[in-house]
Amino acid sequence: MNPRELPTDRLSTTDARGHRIYLYPTDVRGHWKKLRTRLSIGLIAVFLFLPWARIGGHQAVLFDLPRRRFALFGLTFWAHDTPLLFFVLGGAAITIAFTTAIWGRVWCGWACPQTVFVEHVFRRIERWIEGDALARKKLDGQPLSFVKVFKKSLKWSAFTALSLIIGHSFLAYFVGVEDLRQMMTQPPLENLASFLVMAAVSLVVLFDFGWFREQFCTVVCPYGRFQSVLMDHQSAVIAYDAKRGEPRRGTAAPEGTQAGDCVDCHRCVLVCPTGIDIRRGVQLECIACTACVDACDDVMRRTKKPEGLIRYANQALSEGRTETWTPWYQRARAWVYLALLVTCGGGLYWATAHRSPIEITLIRGIEAPYQVTPSGIINHFKMDVRNQTFTDQSVSFSVSPELQQKGVKLIISHHKDTLKTGEPERADLFITYPKEILTFGKAVITIEVTAIASDPSPHLELHLNQEVHLVGPLQ
Ligand code: SF4
Ligand code: SF4
Repeated sequence: MNPRELPTDRLSTTDARGHRIYLYPTDVRGHWKKLRTRLSIGLIAVFLFLPWARIGGHQAVLFDLPRRRFALFGLTFWAHDTPLLFFVLGGAAITIAFTTAIWGRVWCGWACPQTVFVEHVFRRIERWIEGDALARKKLDGQPLSFVKVFKKSLKWSAFTALSLIIGHSFLAYFVGVEDLRQMMTQPPLENLASFLVMAAVSLVVLFDFGWFREQFCTVVCPYGRFQSVLMDHQSAVIAYDAKRGEPRRGTAAPEGTQAGDCVDCHRCVLVCPTGIDIRRGVQLECIACTACVDACDDVMRRTKKPEGLIRYANQALSEGRTETWTPWYQRARAWVYLALLVTCGGGLYWATAHRSPIEITLIRGIEAPYQVTPSGIINHFKMDVRNQTFTDQSVSFSVSPELQQKGVKLIISHHKDTLKTGEPERADLFITYPKEILTFGKAVITIEVTAIASDPSPHLELHLNQEVHLVGPLQ
């Protein structure tokens, strides 16, 4: 076998005995690299600064597991809202299915935290400290020396610091930035659970982004295996134009045929972060990072050939057939995904639009449906009040002045003045009213609910209406 050829019977990152072959992908520049770098900067900025964003005085994105409350850009969810998560998670899964069906593994190559941090942060730092791919390989092969220990210590210190930043930022999504700030000034034992989560995330990040790298994509990540279900022959893949490239330089061209454009320089293999040769066709290990596209375009420019020997294409090209594209809007699969996505979005909108910040449930008392007393008729209800906002609320109940004039009164027992955020409250509600408001033994009145937030300042006031069905004697 040509020593530059990759094995066909195993992963190119393992040797014949199954031991890992550490990769040293060479650096690449080009159009796609530039675009990916810009996107990565944006994505990293979003990840680091999103916990600091606030809407209505509260953290915009917060998954507060201990208090079982979740904030998502102004929407507040509680543990009892789990059915709403069906729409959120369903929408996320369908978005991935939709983008994969059209643009292939665009998530892996462009937006996955693994690729973003490894390619644009960790490898960059490695390059600054240890040099280019050749220098890194040489350094790893050297015996221990002062320079090697210094460079390795510097690199792993930088990696550790970065991992801790990522671990703390991750934790901020779950405990909130205020609590995180406070925790950071306290001994770890005072917030042991949060400290352990942060430490575990930082360690996993350090291990994965610092050393494990492409092994995660090729061996661990389930999405790589799952993609074949989501992709079809029209999904975009990174493909080598075998019709144009073959016979590559160094192989005997059949009589009467011209040599292909591939000069067999192996640049596309050397830059590949998963160590594959894309000229063998679409492979599971390809994360569609476009590094080989930039590398080959550079070679094509130097050899004065048209760019695009390796390019975004569909599977037909990689199989040596003519590449014909069907626009996404002519593909039934895309419309099915879109319809499901609209259903999830519509369901979420409908469900959240019909949620009240102060949820009130009234259940008629189990005794007689009404009592007739000299001062009027009494209806008894068991009332559940739940404050679904992120602030404590001072909640009061009243009826309109017209109903008050008619003699309708509310008596509420066990009602606390301040309703804590997320906490349910149970109270007994007695409504007394004169017989005159009944029509055929029934009446519907509206209770006005006023909730005043105790924080932030200035106080926010909510006004809600709750319909109540009263019953009484027919005569
Ligand atoms: S970089 Fe292009 S020319 Fe070089 S081996 Fe790869 S496909 Fe062939
Ligand atoms: S084959 Fe190309 S696109 Fe696929 S992982 Fe390797 S360099 Fe990235």
